[in-house]
Amino acid sequence: MSKALFLDRDGTLILDKHYLADPAGVELIPGVAPALARARALGYRLFIVTNQSGVGRGYYTLDDVHRCNARMDELLGLPRPIWDGVCIAPESSDQPSRYRKPSPAYLQEMITEHRLDRAQCWMVGDRESDIDAGLNAQVNAAAVCTGKHDAAAWAALGRPGLAVFPDFAAFVATLR
Ligand SMILES: [Mg+2]
Repeated sequence: MSKALFLDRDGTLILDKHYLADPAGVELIPGVAPALARARALGYRLFIVTNQSGVGRGYYTLDDVHRCNARMDELLGLPRPIWDGVCIAPESSDQPSRYRKPSPAYLQEMITEHRLDRAQCWMVGDRESDIDAGLNAQVNAAAVCTGKHDAAAWAALGRPGLAVFPDFAAFVATLR
């Protein structure tokens, strides 16, 4: 059985620009590219799981999201394909959605399809909805401090046992 990382995009891999629509605004969080390369070398499958409610709210289109993702991939400069799967949930929080985090639906589907070992899978993100998507899918969860919450804010949220890392690179450095 395989192992995998399920990764939030905004605030985890790239800076959260809040409703990012312009590929020119994509900025990698430092250390992300070598960390992804290390995770891949360790045998982890890599999946993006991103909520893009700006689509559902009419602020930008799904095409804009794809163009921003393409720009991120270009900046990463890693061998293609970088991702084993990309899940974009375009609904706003008040619209019905199968995949919008904290829904575990995408993770569960990939766990089945790719025969992943839940005990060796992680959901990594900067918001509680990321953590909850991971826990709802019964995988490990790791929080980063490069987006919505800093370390003090995560502590104040009172999530006992939650693994909190300064950034994605610090998380990947702990993987074996
Ligand atoms: Mg995020």
